[in-house]
Parts: sequence; structure tokens; C-alpha cells
Amino acid sequence: MFKKDFPIFKNKDIVYLDSASSTQKPAVMIEALRDFYENTYSNVHRGTCSLAACATERYEQARKTVADLINMRAANIVFTKGATESLNLIAAGLAQHLTPGDEILISVAEHHANFVPWQQIALKTGAVFNVFDVREDGSYDTDDFARKLNAKTKIVALSHMSNVLGVVNPLTHLIDMAHAVHAVVVVDCAQSIAHMPVDARALNADFLVFSGHKLYGPTGIGILAGTDEMLDALPPYQFGGDMVRSVRIKETDFAAPPVKFEAGTPPFAEAIALSESITYVRQIGFDKIMAREHALMNQLLNRTIELPNVHILAPNPNKESLVAMTFGDIHPTDIAALIARQGICVRVGHHCAMPIHERFKTPVSLRVSLGIYNNADDIERFCNALEKALRFFKG
Ligand code: PMP
Repeated sequence: MFKKDFPIFKNKDIVYLDSASSTQKPAVMIEALRDFYENTYSNVHRGTCSLAACATERYEQARKTVADLINMRAANIVFTKGATESLNLIAAGLAQHLTPGDEILISVAEHHANFVPWQQIALKTGAVFNVFDVREDGSYDTDDFARKLNAKTKIVALSHMSNVLGVVNPLTHLIDMAHAVHAVVVVDCAQSIAHMPVDARALNADFLVFSGHKLYGPTGIGILAGTDEMLDALPPYQFGGDMVRSVRIKETDFAAPPVKFEAGTPPFAEAIALSESITYVRQIGFDKIMAREHALMNQLLNRTIELPNVHILAPNPNKESLVAMTFGDIHPTDIAALIARQGICVRVGHHCAMPIHERFKTPVSLRVSLGIYNNADDIERFCNALEKALRFFKG
């Protein structure tokens, strides 16, 4: 139904089931980017000509579009180059407030982008790096969370939805518990943002991050949303042009957030293009997106569990838009190689989440993930190809 909006699907042979890694791009976004570069391009902020004014206005309007998507104010939205940079920015800033003996608490299911920065600042500052478990069905083990949260916990980093387990974690209660011990809460929405409404204000996290390229936007653009209080307290991550109010030989006065965190020429063309993607997604509406993706997930899970040797990682009927699987003694890479020959794009590996693979006792998995362009035929083609590949290896 929506495939026609995505130029890549003019090639009917492509079955794209790798949207958790990155989504395909709608024509409206590609056109907006092209139009901006062709007709109204100029750097933002300091220019005086009408092109600069127009670019600046559209960049700031894009900030507002992102803010509206997650129910925040534009002043709370920092443009970065991706979720990874957003998380590193936050970690680098918070590290300056950590002292030996402070604790950081994260889950074993985090993507490396929401794992390694915290591990590294713990090593650097002498903070204790605590990791809580997930249950067999992939949901956060809230008892383990409660056991490991304490008055020394200064940072809690969570994800709205795991990029391996596909489970959406209800976070409000955990965030309230973390706030009760005065911990700063960071939520990674890189996976959930394209599949369901995310209300940052209702979640009440201190920071929330995601990437544009997983939301039908261009690469090189990410979001860091923070509360007024947190953005004020966080030191700048990089220094340079634009992020200053005044510079003298002995001192610099930094600009107010969000500009304080946007040193140098920001990714404004990408921000403008991302706002087109957001408008496109919102025109379709998350109700419709969720209904479609739920139906496809049911089809996928019902079909695959019937197949011999298919093991779903953390089986759970409530998986949203993605599922990872293994195949007994057949290597997922071998299966993926066979089905790739039929134009089917899935991802195989640890998906930048080695700790959760270790938790489920497998080094790698094959991940199938959905976008708004997928349809029942895509699922059928994947399942048939998988069935054939399994037969090839097992006879
Ligand atoms: N968090 C999660 C849950 C992810 O799935 C990803 C991307 N796979 C990231 C963070 C990092 O996003 P990016 O590579 O766009 O910075």
C-alpha cells in the first residue's frame, strides 16, 4: 500500500525486512532534500541574505516538527548526527558529575550505543557499572532493576524497545523509581520512534534520543531531547562556532541550549528532510502503522514457529515490528546468505547488542524487521525462502 511512496520499491524484486537497521526513504523526503539543495540552499543562522533567512527558518521549523512528534518544546530539541552521538554527548556531560562509588544502572538488552558509553564513563570515573537482567520473554526484569537501584545510582539508561527482542518496555514506573533516588534517566527510543507514538513529556525521562534514518529520514541526523533543567546543567560536548554568545581571549560565554550543543555547521539539510519524513509518517498515523505492523508480526510469528529448527529469541506474542531467530545447529549467516539470493534483505549478526545475545546463549541471530512499506506478500516470500533454506540444510 505504501510501497509506491518509496522509489526503491520500483525494483519489485526487493523484499526489505531490515528497517530496524535503517528504513527506506519516501519520495517526499528525497524531493525535499533535493529541492532544498537545488533552490534554497544556504548555511543557517549568521547569514543576512534571504536564502540564509529561509534556511534558518526551515531548520528551526524542523526542530518544532520534531518537538511536536514527541510532545516537547523546540528549545528542548538538540540536533546531533544520530542516537549514538546523542548518547555519547549525554554520557560525556554526566561523567563530569560522577565520583568513585556512584552507580550507573542499565539493562543487559541495550544496544552498544546505550551500553558502551556508560561502561566507559564508569571505567574512567570509578563509578560502578550495574546491569539488570531481562526475563525469558525479553521484558525488563523489574525485580532485578529494583534490587540494583539504590541511593548511589546516579544514572539509569533504558530503551523503549529493544533492537533484538522487539519487546516494548513500559518505562513510566521504572523512571519514577529512578527519580525517587534522584538518578538521571536516559531513554533510547531509536527503535520505537517509527512504530508507535512516543510522548516524552508523559514518559518524564530526563533525556530521550533517536536517529532520523530509522524514521524514514536521511542519515547523519539524530535527536537529543532533554528537559530544560538537564540541558542547562549539561556542559557542551564540542566547542566551536555557533554555540557561543561571546568569545574573549580568556573566556567564552556559551549560548543557551539547544544551540550550546550544536557547535559548527549543523546538519540543517538533513533536519529539514527529516521533518518531511515526520510529516509523512504522521499523515499516515501511528494507529494505522501499528495495526498494519501488528498484523504482519502475527503472520510472521505464526508462520515461522511452525517451521522446524526455528527458535525465536525471547518468545513473546507482544513483539513490535521485529523478531530475532536462531536455527539450532544451522548458522544464521548460512540461512541469511541463501535467502539473500532471492532478494530478501534481513540482518544477521549480533546487531550491536552482544550482551543480550550472550544472555540468550547465542553469538548471533537473524533479525527480521518491518517498516510501513511491508505487506503480507513480503512476509510470505521471506517465510517461503526460510523454509526452503532450512530444507536445504536439513533435507
Ligand atoms: N539504539 C538502538 C536501540 C538502536 O537500534 C540503534 C541502531 N541500531 C542505536 C541506538 C544507534 O543508532 P545510530 O547507529 O543511528 O546512532
